[in-house]
Amino acid sequence: MENKFAIAIHGGAGTILQSEMTPEKEEQYKQDLMFALNRGYDILKSGGDAVSAVEAAVSALEDSALFNAGKGAVFNAQGEHEMDASIMEGKNREAGAVAAVKGLKNPIQLARKVMEKSEHVFLVGDGAEIFAKQFDLPFMDKEYFHDEFRYQQWLSIKDTDNFQLDHSVDKEKKFGTVGAVALDMTGNLAAATSTGGMTNKKYGRIGDSSIIGAGTYANNNTCAISCTGSGEFFIRGVVAYDVSCLMELQGLSLHDAAEQVIQKRLMEINGDGGLIGVDQKGNFVLSFNTEGMYRGAGSYNTQPFVDIYK
Ligand code: ASP
Repeated sequence: MENKFAIAIHGGAGTILQSEMTPEKEEQYKQDLMFALNRGYDILKSGGDAVSAVEAAVSALEDSALFNAGKGAVFNAQGEHEMDASIMEGKNREAGAVAAVKGLKNPIQLARKVMEKSEHVFLVGDGAEIFAKQFDLPFMDKEYFHDEFRYQQWLSIKDTDNFQLDHSVDKEKKFGTVGAVALDMTGNLAAATSTGGMTNKKYGRIGDSSIIGAGTYANNNTCAISCTGSGEFFIRGVVAYDVSCLMELQGLSLHDAAEQVIQKRLMEINGDGGLIGVDQKGNFVLSFNTEGMYRGAGSYNTQPFVDIYK
């Protein structure tokens, strides 16, 4: 196990078609993915820990306007940005999560504070923001989160009961959560996920991204997993934990467990999306049942790479 390390990231899955993409836009996505991947990869390569690697990679994706998390978070029914995030480490299975937080530049960093600096696992809304203010975590004004494309997307459904996954109009169905999973050289695993959820969401809707076991899970005996997709199905399928269970109880490999969950068990309940995973041997997996998933990975024996389409 020693000296092996691996990292994988995602920036959301969905109907991402090359025919809908300009070369410039594709290049931008790849650049931002590679930047985030390298931030985590460099930490691991120089002997850093898995939690810091996933936090750094997810923070970089939150800082990009291209993905539905942090700066690029979608608009909710009130025209605001409510964000969910969670993080977990595999050694002691400690975890931290926040949901429906506003204004925070990097919700994943708050999730890490919940894990390390509180007695709790899951904080929501105003309470989570009050907790955040004890630390040096940056808050940004509304302008920072304003993205014209997402604003127009919201305006088109704002006075209806519709809500949609990021860009999930028929021709471009795409989920926009971001996530990272990592194995460090000491054999520890970690997973992190962050999202703005669904455009025009209301009633305090929260998806799988901040739910430990659904959108995020890490256990040194099995794997670290971060998911993206239609959150309601990932919650019902307890997807991240399901992969871990198939490995632990049925002895499946990371690859086979992930594929069974995404291509079979999730599809049985009509769920679509994908996940990324790593195990303690330095293997990684990038599974999805959609047209594409923004993704990337690298390890002790694989140069960092990024990809978008099936
Ligand atoms: N899973 C996220 C949610 O339901 C959305 C996504 O992955 O795009 O909130």
